[in-house]
Amino acid sequence: MRLRPITDSMPKPMVPVCGRPFLEHLLEQLRGEGITEVVLLTGYLGDVIESHFGDGSSFGMRISYSRGPEDWDTGRRLWKARPLLKEQFFLLYGDNYATFLATRVEKMFLHHGRLGCLSLHAREKNANIRFSADGLVDAYDRSRTASGLNAVEIGYMLLSRRIFEFYRQPDCSFSEILERLALEGQLAGYLVGDVYYSVSDPERLKITEQYLAPKKILLIDRDGTINEKAPRGEYITRWEDFRFIPSAVAGMKQLAGLGWSFIVISNQAGVGRGVMTAEQVWEIDRQMVAALAGEGITILYSYYCLHHWTEVCSCRKPCPGLLLQASRDFLLPLPQTWYIGDDPRDCTAAWAAGCRAAYLGPAGELKLLSKEQYPALVLQELPDMIPMIVSP
Ligand SMILES: [Zn+2]
Repeated sequence: MRLRPITDSMPKPMVPVCGRPFLEHLLEQLRGEGITEVVLLTGYLGDVIESHFGDGSSFGMRISYSRGPEDWDTGRRLWKARPLLKEQFFLLYGDNYATFLATRVEKMFLHHGRLGCLSLHAREKNANIRFSADGLVDAYDRSRTASGLNAVEIGYMLLSRRIFEFYRQPDCSFSEILERLALEGQLAGYLVGDVYYSVSDPERLKITEQYLAPKKILLIDRDGTINEKAPRGEYITRWEDFRFIPSAVAGMKQLAGLGWSFIVISNQAGVGRGVMTAEQVWEIDRQMVAALAGEGITILYSYYCLHHWTEVCSCRKPCPGLLLQASRDFLLPLPQTWYIGDDPRDCTAAWAAGCRAAYLGPAGELKLLSKEQYPALVLQELPDMIPMIVSP
């Protein structure tokens, strides 16, 4: 209703986003996560979906359909689709989009050994989930009034077929099922750090379109990556001491020529330690941005954590706070975005944010991190990045 008149002729998942149906973006995301078998639970104008996607072969997937009348709830649709579902399956809604790392949700699902693992977004207001410190969902409240609610459920959930034991009749609302599962301690949760996007009203559709639009933006560390690092425990406190790394500037210049711009993300604990002021950090930033602009290189914004490492903050790398902030501010889909840095902690921060990591430096230093957990592209110098992103 909220998307009329677009939805007069097509169901909501088919609304055009960046020139193609929203559902295509979702399926592409699933394929990227290695998921190629999909059951589409269709209702309102379901034939529009079927005639577009067919059996999925032209999208590199195997798509089947479970059809129902438009007034059916997800719970009933799921019940009807039972014969087509495997022992475990992901359930997504057709109208929202979030960072999805299937193996991480699966890992959490297996770790807790419950019947479901929900993808969650932490929030205080208008929440419907109470997510506890032990990683379990201890309440699902569709009236959103219970005390201590601290998250919303955003789809992208992994479920076991055994959830069907929680149905009392086929015509059961899906919220009721989630409510029962939570009550029985059968739901784990996976917190997605990034915000989620939706096509459910015109305003959100517009933002989602900006989010999904292809962008040429790289996240990059500062000290040791763009400029020479100060000796250990010391800080660059004056522009006079700032020395660009020539290969870094050369690489950034080439990338700028190909249409790429940059966002700087850097720890500057010297401020928290009282060695320098925030003004000094921003003054150096201003000079750096101006000098790079002289080379045709655009720095869209710089994010600095100014905290002491003894302070508890979520922005000091290896925490992912600043990467998540950049994603929110610039509508960057992190799984397709690179963060380039010279410190293994940069890779950890990238991993925690769900972003791609490029590590500049001797591969040996990455040994501290496990390769499976923190996959990183190892580069000798910044220009090596170019072939990776020009024809990935
Ligand atoms: Zn911080």
